Amino acid sequence: MALIELKNVSVVYNKGLINQSNAVLDINLKIYPEEYVMIFGPSGCGKSTLLNLIAGLEDPTEGTITIDDMNINTMDHSQISKFHCTKIGMIFQSYNLLSSLTVKDNILLPQVFLGNRDFKKRKKRADALLKKFGIFEHANKIPTELSGGQQQRIGIARSLINDQPIILADEPVGNLDSKSASNVLDILKELNEKNKKTIVMVTHNPDYLEHAHRIFYMKDGRITRAIANRKSKHYKKKDISKKEIEFDLLARSFPGLSEAQLHTLMIPFKAKILSEYLLTSVNSDQIQRLEEFIKNRMMGKYSKYEFRILLDRSFRKGGIGLDERTAIKYSREAERIIEGAGLLQKDLKNTAKGLNLEESKLKAKLISRHLIRSYIKKIDSQQKNRFEHLINMRFKNEIESETFSKALDAPLDEGGVGLDKRVVKKITRDLETVLLVKFGTRAE
Ligand code: ADP
Ligand code: MG
Repeated sequence: MALIELKNVSVVYNKGLINQSNAVLDINLKIYPEEYVMIFGPSGCGKSTLLNLIAGLEDPTEGTITIDDMNINTMDHSQISKFHCTKIGMIFQSYNLLSSLTVKDNILLPQVFLGNRDFKKRKKRADALLKKFGIFEHANKIPTELSGGQQQRIGIARSLINDQPIILADEPVGNLDSKSASNVLDILKELNEKNKKTIVMVTHNPDYLEHAHRIFYMKDGRITRAIANRKSKHYKKKDISKKEIEFDLLARSFPGLSEAQLHTLMIPFKAKILSEYLLTSVNSDQIQRLEEFIKNRMMGKYSKYEFRILLDRSFRKGGIGLDERTAIKYSREAERIIEGAGLLQKDLKNTAKGLNLEESKLKAKLISRHLIRSYIKKIDSQQKNRFEHLINMRFKNEIESETFSKALDAPLDEGGVGLDKRVVKKITRDLETVLLVKFGTRAE
């Protein structure tokens, strides 16, 4: 369930006037609990407007915004302010602290708005936050007596005083030197990981994107693409469990179908996995079309050749618009995975029986031949046996992918396969993708 959901949201300023401007245009997005997402784009593209919409500080001209199952557009003023105080903590580039109040009173302000009259409890919580962020000894100063980094930590403490689950940060380190900036980024990361806060941060600095689980790229008021951060374990886990749910749903909706038939129905999701494998930086229209093409290729509607040509053909003429070299590379990779997954999915029970082998062993042999052909120039029979054995163990889930790759890398006299590190990386990635595509969702 999404924690934050925007459907077809637009904000138009000065509608109908000569200076009409579309700050935000037809935005659709979902943010899940405990995610750390960033909104990235140039100045003026609508990032702050988007954040203010989520905060309930601005009304959309069109569309709906749902936070924690509540439609915030239909709330009246008092409901909105209660919603804002309890659900949302905001951090700004310019700190937005009141210079007539002490540091501590600034932090306490949202509690006062919430009408909390328990003075002792309020004070205790504020003190804890002051200590957490190393500004306790400055509690009675006014904010401008402190450095930029310290002032931003006051801002962060204020955003946490009501224990709000969502933190919205608008260029929170934009005014800070690099040391204070990285301190604030560390704090945000910890708030996400340890305190389970859902964080939406706006930035125009690409250096910070690595901290996010997902990144929404914005341009001229629109989200042009959404990318999952491959480095983030968090996101991958989520993604798999989402697809697991899809399989279960299918199985429940079609109780009469065999597993093989269900896997055919899963082809769209498999196409998604494979297309994610191939693409790192093309836009969402291309990705969507590529998924369609891969799906057709997997169902045998296109030949290898047709598939290759479509990758190369310009987007306008119905293709993906990759340059020829990339198209060749992608189609070769896709064919390799499809072939591997096809091998795994085949019923080879009888052939295996004839050869007096376990079916999984036969499949391990075939896949190992397939991988050796693609990646390994020279291999002796001892290496080959170990390689096959490891693949078989991975199939049966007797070892994890990490153990598998370590064993490929380890030298021969230590019982490993003694392969080159780079080759090991490629083979592991290939095999895991083959397993994912084969099992759709259920491979862990
Ligand atoms: P960002 O945060 O990405 O720099 P903003 O969300 O602040 O962008 O602004 C997006 C666009 O909307 C800009 O073109 C800006 O000039 C315009 N805009 C923002 N606020 C208003 C307003 N109150 N009235 C008219 N135009 C506005
Ligand atoms: Mg802005």
